[in-house]
Parts: sequence; structure tokens; C-alpha cells
Amino acid sequence: MNNSIEALNSKVRGRIITASSDDYDDARAVYNGMHDRRPEAVVQCMDSADVMAVVTSARDSGMDLAVRGGGHSVPGFGAIDEGLVLDLSRMNYARVDPVKKVVNVGGGATLGDVDHATYPFGLAAAGGVVSTTGVGGLTLGGGIGYLTRSVGLTIDNLLSADVVLADGRQVTASDYQNEDLFWALRGGGGNFGVVTNFEFQLHEVGDVVGGPMFFEFDDAQAVLEAYREYMMHAPEQLGCFFGWQIAPPLPFIPQDRVGDLFCVLVPCWNGPHEEAEQVVKPFRDAAEVKAELFEVMPFPTLQSLFDDAVPKGMQNYWKADFITELTDDAITAHIEHGAKTPHISSSMHLHPINGAAQRVGADETAFGHRDKNFAPVIVGMWDDPAENEANTKWVKDYYDAIHPHSGSDGGYINFMSDDDDDRAPANYGANYERLAEVKAAYDPDNLFHVNQNIVPASN
Ligand SMILES: Cc1cc2nc3c(=O)[nH]c(=O)nc-3n(C[C@H](O)[C@H](O)[C@H](O)COP(=O)(O)OP(=O)(O)OC[C@H]3O[C@@H](n4cnc5c(N)ncnc54)[C@H](O)[C@@H]3O)c2cc1C
Repeated sequence: MNNSIEALNSKVRGRIITASSDDYDDARAVYNGMHDRRPEAVVQCMDSADVMAVVTSARDSGMDLAVRGGGHSVPGFGAIDEGLVLDLSRMNYARVDPVKKVVNVGGGATLGDVDHATYPFGLAAAGGVVSTTGVGGLTLGGGIGYLTRSVGLTIDNLLSADVVLADGRQVTASDYQNEDLFWALRGGGGNFGVVTNFEFQLHEVGDVVGGPMFFEFDDAQAVLEAYREYMMHAPEQLGCFFGWQIAPPLPFIPQDRVGDLFCVLVPCWNGPHEEAEQVVKPFRDAAEVKAELFEVMPFPTLQSLFDDAVPKGMQNYWKADFITELTDDAITAHIEHGAKTPHISSSMHLHPINGAAQRVGADETAFGHRDKNFAPVIVGMWDDPAENEANTKWVKDYYDAIHPHSGSDGGYINFMSDDDDDRAPANYGANYERLAEVKAAYDPDNLFHVNQNIVPASN
């Protein structure tokens, strides 16, 4: 054990796991099985004091530092070779104030941790669509999910954040203190420090009417055309993403259709239940629904419906864009490449980011794409590393076909792979220069660089 790590022993309450620990392999593993990284140590922090000690130790010793929330980043930003991993997974509390409708969430909580705490109060935070995703990375990149159209991105509901900075101090960032830091945290990723506590505005969400509707792949054009048209003006309590799906062996799928490729809509209606059918009528009018699980369910059930389909440890390679308009040519390209979806866990998901998310000004937060209507992501996910080349090729070919129709160079930083680093300025969009200024003010030596990195502006 090197001296700096040994010295941490007396300063932190959390476990320090090194190559000689029995659970080293578990502790270093991240979601994307492609990344087999071997850090000097994984420090499972218990509180802000632990985080401050680890940040200070990394800075003073010059060791590389990776910060891990939920560990879900496809580029594997939650792991590193040789350096220190600051693991926040033990800081996963979620404490609800039902009167103020606010939740305080530890920096390493998952969306499932938050849902579990808020649902009994009939409340929910704006999250994503898979409950195992970390609140930390998801929030700092923006946060796109079922509630985006009605309450905005996750960052639009962030009230404050406690942040351990590169100099080892913890500060609070909000609309009233460290405003520049608060601005940058909302879309600027993990570049500015370690968030130990997020404070979110909650919303009244209890049981929703939601779940997948499976349409024939041959009806994809009609479904996509109806979807692009309707999502521009549908009631905002309707969230709904589109995707390709090879049918899994589930009770609501006819047995003779298991393994067939479908196109799927996944609505989430957070309005009066009796209005749900009327609200999804434009989808049913587009084509016949061949199988479905569209029903009343607790919001946490919907947000964990796909968890088993996307387990930790698979090979992952993703690519993403932002688009204003889903053109006819784009639909043609989607159908051509969607037809070749190679694995039951692979897909292309098209998430709407209009409605409430567009009512926040382009420069109010660091998220630089408020004029976009959709965030498409091509999700390559498969088991066998021997098939990496074929599966990454499917993602790249698909991306090359749709990107010319996107009208934008940037994509959502949270849907990027590790070969997308050179896209960072486009991904952060018009706010990149201001982000670089804030980075220079808070992390001039780029201690927090294991992320979609923002290079500190030079003076
Ligand atoms: C199966 C799956 C489903 C997904 N679904 C959605 C979705 O519906 N909507 C959506 O918006 N995104 C979604 N994503 C993308 C997701 O937002 C990113 O993968 C995100 O990076 C995950 O955050 P994490 O904390 O789990 O990841 P990590 O790998 O732990 O961290 C990602 C980045 O954030 C930084 N970070 C994490 N926590 C903190 C913290 N507390 N303080 C400072 N920095 C921190 C890390 O340093 C790293 O740079 C999904 C990803 C997967 C794999």
C-alpha cells in the first residue's frame, strides 16, 4: 500500500479496498463490463469528511482520481487504473421533507433509492428510466426521464448541492450562494467537485399509467411519424420514449413472438387515470398494438421495469445526438439500422426533451441544448466480449447514418462512449466557454478529469 493510501486509514471511516482485499474485484467493477480497471485503492466514503480527506490526499499525492456515484457511465468514468477511486455508493440516503416536498439525497444514491423514499409520500423526483442509474452522474449531466416533459430535466429540479472542491473544502451551491458553481453543476458533469448531497424539488407522482406497447416492426414508419407529431403537442404529463425491442420471454408477450423484433413506445401518464386511454389514442391509431403492459402501476415500478434487461457487467458501447426535428430521412435511416438490432439488450431510444425542459433558458443552466426536441441514443449492449467488433460496428454504422440528419454536432454527455471525448465542446454546446471559465475558477489543475472533460480556461 503506498504511503498516501496508508495515511488515509486514520482519516476516513469508510473502507479502503486494495488489491489485497477479498472484495477488490467487486469493488473495482463498474457497470460497463468493457472496463477492467485496477485502481490502487477504492475508498468507500461514508460522509463529507471522508470525501474531503480523499480529495485532499489525491491532490497532495498527485494520484489520479476517479469519482463514482452509481458507476453507470458507459465510458467507465467510475474506475481508473492505478489511481484512487472515490466511491460514493455508501452515501445513498434519501431523506424526504413531505411538507416542503423536497428530498435530500446522498451523492452515491441510485434512482431506485430515491423512488423508494419518495413514493410512500405520493411524491417523486425527476429521474430517468432505469432505477439502478446513479443520481450523481445522471443529475450532473442533465437528467432525462419519464417526467422531463412535465417538470423538466433533473437539473431543473435541483435546489442546491453540497460540493467538495478540489481544494478540499465543502461548499453549498444554489441560486443564493456560489451561483456560478451551481450554474455549472447543472449540465457540466463531474468537472467541478464531488457532490455529497443533492437537494431536489419533488412533485406529486404516485401511481401512473405506463408501460410498453409493442408494435410490429413493419409499422415502425407509421409509429415514428405519429410519435414525432404527437409528442410536440401532447399533454405534458405524458412522458414517452420510443425504442426497438427484441421481445423477451415475458407473460404479456405471445409465446410464438418471443425473439421477434418490435418497435415499442413506453408511455408514462401522470394525469387522471381515466384519461390515459384518450391520451395514448394517437399511438393506438397509428398501428395495432400487438402486446402491451400499459396499466396503472406505482411510478417506482415503471422506473424499474427494464432493470433486469440491462444488468451490470455486460459490454456497452453507445452513441448519441440531440435533434430538433425527426426528419423523414432520419426515420428511413432509423428503420434501416433498427432492423439490424443485434441483441435483446440493444436498442435505439428516442427521448423527448421538450415541454417544461424547454421553458428553462439556454443560459440559465449549463445544459446547452434547450432548443432540441429529442435525445436519441443508440444503445449497444451484449454479453460476449468476442462479439465486441460486430456490436460496436452496428452502433457506429447506425450513428453514421442518422447523424447527418441531426442538425447538431453535440449529444447528451451521459449517453457518450469513451471515444467521444473530442465531442465535449459540441456536447456542452453554446455554454462550453463559460464552463471552462468556471472550471478554471474551481478546478484550475483539472483534478476532476475522469469525466467528459472541460479543459480549464487559461488566464
Ligand atoms: C442502463 C442505463 C440507463 C440509463 N438511463 C438514463 C436515463 O433514463 N436518463 C438519463 O439522463 N441518463 C441515463 N443513463 C445515463 C446515465 O445518466 C449516465 O450513465 C450517468 O453517468 C450515470 O451516473 P452514475 O452516477 O451512475 O455514473 P458514474 O459512472 O458513477 O459517474 C458518471 C460521471 O459522473 C461523475 N459523478 C457521479 N456522481 C458524482 C457525484 N456525486 N459528484 C461528482 N461527480 C459525480 C463521475 O465522476 C463520472 O464522471 C443511463 C445509463 C445506463 C447505463
